[in-house]
Amino acid sequence: MTACILPVVIVGAGPIGLIPALGLQHYGVSALVFEEDRRLSIDTKAGTIITRTLEVLDRYGVVDDVLAQSLRIEEIGEPARATNQRTLSVWTGELTEDTRFPFVINIPQHELEPILQVLSTSGAKHPTFFTKAPGTVIGPTDDINYDPAISGE
Ligand SMILES: Cc1cc2nc3c(=O)[nH]c(=O)nc-3n(C[C@H](O)[C@H](O)[C@H](O)COP(=O)(O)OP(=O)(O)OC[C@H]3O[C@@H](n4cnc5c(N)ncnc54)[C@H](O)[C@@H]3O)c2cc1C
Repeated sequence: MTACILPVVIVGAGPIGLIPALGLQHYGVSALVFEEDRRLSIDTKAGTIITRTLEVLDRYGVVDDVLAQSLRIEEIGEPARATNQRTLSVWTGELTEDTRFPFVINIPQHELEPILQVLSTSGAKHPTFFTKAPGTVIGPTDDINYDPAISGE
């Protein structure tokens, strides 16, 4: 019997699916991403990426691509809603000795996802997505015809 290494299947092409896809690619593991919407998100949804996630993106070698399209934030705070008065802020610069990324970034989810998709596909040893057309992602009812022999496994 011939051993066959199957790809990791990831359900959902949101950030929580796409970042592990990048990680798997980084470590040379095949992954297939299934997205029921047949396209990436068109909604803003998640907007803030914190320091620890930036460290993960750095480990996978993609943080510069994300930072290039993000707004860097070094003060986190909000006015008290009842009085509209300024409240105490958190200054991320205090983290300088703890992380290479002493800041958070803002990037709308619908702008982040295409970056992650391109990065997880380009240079991949194995295809991460089975794209049907630009901007679309194969859905769970599509035939994949995944052939380990063809993909080099
Ligand atoms: C207005 C707004 C602002 C927000 N701001 C922030 C923020 O600043 N920071 C933050 O961390 N979070 C924020 N959130 C929450 C944000 O939505 C989540 O953090 C983020 O979307 C989680 O990503 P995800 O990949 O887990 O889920 P999603 O982005 O929801 O992605 C899941 C994907 O899986 C697909 N899917 C689901 N089931 C299946 C299935 N059975 N088969 C195939 N595909 C499937 C869905 O279609 C979807 O594309 C905000 C949400 C809203 C609405």
